[in-house]
Amino acid sequence: MIERGIADAQANDEERLFEASLRPRSLADFTGQPKLKENLKIAIEAAKMRGEAMDHVLLYGPPGLGKTTIATLIANELGSSFEQTSAPVLQKKLDLTGLLSNIRAKQVFFIDEIHRLAPDVEEMLYSALEDFRVDILVGTGPGARTHSLPVPKFTAVGATTRLGNISAPLRGRFGLMLRLDVYQPDELAGIVRRSAKILDLKMDELASTEIARRSRGTPRIANRLLRRVRDYAQVKASGEMSKQIAIDALELLEVDPLGLDEVDRRIMDAILVKFDGGPVGLSTLSSAIDEEAGTIEDVYEPYLIQQGFVDRTPRGRIATDRAYEYFGLSRRRSASGPPNVLP
Ligand code: ADP
Repeated sequence: MIERGIADAQANDEERLFEASLRPRSLADFTGQPKLKENLKIAIEAAKMRGEAMDHVLLYGPPGLGKTTIATLIANELGSSFEQTSAPVLQKKLDLTGLLSNIRAKQVFFIDEIHRLAPDVEEMLYSALEDFRVDILVGTGPGARTHSLPVPKFTAVGATTRLGNISAPLRGRFGLMLRLDVYQPDELAGIVRRSAKILDLKMDELASTEIARRSRGTPRIANRLLRRVRDYAQVKASGEMSKQIAIDALELLEVDPLGLDEVDRRIMDAILVKFDGGPVGLSTLSSAIDEEAGTIEDVYEPYLIQQGFVDRTPRGRIATDRAYEYFGLSRRRSASGPPNVLP
């Protein structure tokens, strides 16, 4: 079985190059997320009209949905340069100072995984975002003094999969907070077709639908599966990507027909079997499958809800009839019935 968990939705180096080649270059080229695009267009247009740096933007949503892509698009649309970093890389205040001291006016400064900033680095970022200044400590001991250096007005774009882990003061410094939702199957099929065109592949429309359906609402996974199907088609069908070839390739890779991964299945197994369909509270569910509550909520649940497998109720998560149907289980009427087992 290929590795395709959500954690694995983070890309390795080779994939990063592949992804970069498929990255949309303009907002018009970016499929889906209509509300987000509308909000962005207005903010970009307004900044251009005023000739100022755009407001800081916080993008949040599960991995692989296009946060990095949007950050690059903002820079492209503004005609500004782009600088990228990631919170885990900014270990010390000096790391951030170094980057900020090179920032140019109106530049887009992208900070990935912004929920993982060290507290002192985060604090330093506050004044950079709000007052466009960085405080630097010069010297050591009693003679040490703080110098406050100006930073040109820039646009910070923060990205996170875990909005709940962002502190209120940090959130408050972003003028625009935009959520990315998992994609609809037809949007994903459009993304697959666009990628196939860029890669110059011969592909049936129905093959793109099949890949889209198994991509967990996630463009990164869609592009990754496209690559696997391409390889299979090359070896087995002289490159022709038909629906049947796509199905054969994806079945060989043991990709679930709805793209569910191992954690999705553990979540469903717990709700359906262990908690008998629910309701089950998030923290109980989290202990049952040994996965952080925030990760379940922010990273896994959106797709399970989009698929209509899970409903959120005030009393907790419940499994829907569709979930019972998909996993081939029946609701137990009483505790004495036969135990359910997820196939
Ligand atoms: P994130 O930063 O949210 O993890 P990325 O921006 O790195 O996700 O996107 C992952 C891959 O998916 C990229 O290769 C990008 O080209 C592709 N992608 C994401 N969103 C879209 C979209 N709306 N249209 C086309 N391709 C997309």
